[in-house]
Amino acid sequence: MSLQRALIVGSGHAGAQLAASLRQEGWTGEIVLIGEESALPYQRPPLSKAYLAGKTTLDELAIRSAEFYAKQRIQPLHATVEAIDRSAGHLALSTGDALPYDKLALCTGARPRRLSAPGADLAGVYYLRTAADVEMIREATSAGHRAVIVGGGYIGLETAASLRALGLEVTVLEATERVLQRVTAPQVSAFFDRIHRENGVNIRTGALVAALSGDSRVREVVLVGGQSIPADLVIVGIGVEPNTELAAAAGLVVDNGVVIDDQTRTSDADIVAAGDCASHNMARYGRRIRLESVPSAGEQAKVAAATVCGKPKKIAALPWFWSDQYNLKLQIAGLNTGYDEVVLSGDPTRDRDFTCFYLRAGELIAADCINRPRDFMFSKRVITQQLPIDRAELVLSGSA
Ligand SMILES: Cc1cc2nc3c(=O)[nH]c(=O)nc-3n(C[C@H](O)[C@H](O)[C@H](O)COP(=O)(O)OP(=O)(O)OC[C@H]3O[C@@H](n4cnc5c(N)ncnc54)[C@H](O)[C@@H]3O)c2cc1C
Repeated sequence: MSLQRALIVGSGHAGAQLAASLRQEGWTGEIVLIGEESALPYQRPPLSKAYLAGKTTLDELAIRSAEFYAKQRIQPLHATVEAIDRSAGHLALSTGDALPYDKLALCTGARPRRLSAPGADLAGVYYLRTAADVEMIREATSAGHRAVIVGGGYIGLETAASLRALGLEVTVLEATERVLQRVTAPQVSAFFDRIHRENGVNIRTGALVAALSGDSRVREVVLVGGQSIPADLVIVGIGVEPNTELAAAAGLVVDNGVVIDDQTRTSDADIVAAGDCASHNMARYGRRIRLESVPSAGEQAKVAAATVCGKPKKIAALPWFWSDQYNLKLQIAGLNTGYDEVVLSGDPTRDRDFTCFYLRAGELIAADCINRPRDFMFSKRVITQQLPIDRAELVLSGSA
């Protein structure tokens, strides 16, 4: 009897973990890890941090070595998957080949949302998702250059910090009234606003891009209202969209991500999905959520591998995230959706370490911990176990 074959589409964080976990779960058949990026799977978070700042190399970012894949009999394949033929049980590749599968895993991740303003396709306008993107950005940067970053979310702010370290003049344009508005409380936004201004970043909130202009290359960003900001390069960080086209075209159920259950099963029994491309119903939050984080991609990939091997495992971990800017480490436990109270430990208007605890009906649901690893560990435990909290204890948490 021929060996069973598992195909993994997408060789990012989820794909790399899924391949390794398949072996750990006892998959004895073939594993082919198909990716359209030419490098072996690498860590994406450092792209806007150490890699952009020139402090690390792509080799150092490899998730696993080439020897690991060889030893585990995982076959990396550089190709783009163009279609899934579910009735025939095979994938159509950009190489013209059709590759049959017994089990299929979709780990296609997400891509940057494009800026729709006129002039957005000029040379000198960049997005930041892949190592190749960063290499292009780095070629376009030298000290003294003026960079305009569109979007004051985590990627935009991390990029701002890295470009300041390289000696560029940096302006961040945020459309809403504060940076990180979508994800944090006003106090945390005000803290990051202060830190970036102290580091020489020009932050402009309520700034809507009307157009980009220049001859062959971008030279300025024009705001609604007519103001013009000179630019040698523009980096757009306005969120991502999940890569779900393959799944949708194959008739799988898609709803802001490939729909999976808590065992990562899609609407086809032979196909699992994991990572930024997948959305699942989280009982804790009572709704379908698509997470964009390395810990979540890793957990879902482990569950997917178990599912492919017929073992019962469920997505259960509390979502958590991190962001590094300058010498600050932000760690976030849980999701703060629907919070009705904020308790602060430390003074974000003055300190460089503090925690913002988010409560809903008196229960701790999330925490933003800045340079406070102990608060982060504490919060994860309390939120996961839904333990009662004492507000006075929270306020004093950093002073022990
Ligand atoms: C600059 C940056 C900084 C970040 N910082 C953090 C952070 O600090 N902390 C954190 O938790 N998360 C961070 N993230 C998010 C994190 O990187 C993602 O959540 C994570 O990469 C998701 O993993 P994934 O495998 O689902 O997707 P990806 O890592 O995006 O991998 C998907 C892969 O699939 C490939 N692919 C897609 N379609 C096809 C196809 N048809 N055929 C072949 N290959 C295909 C893509 O090219 C890509 O290589 C950051 C992301 C970026 C871009």
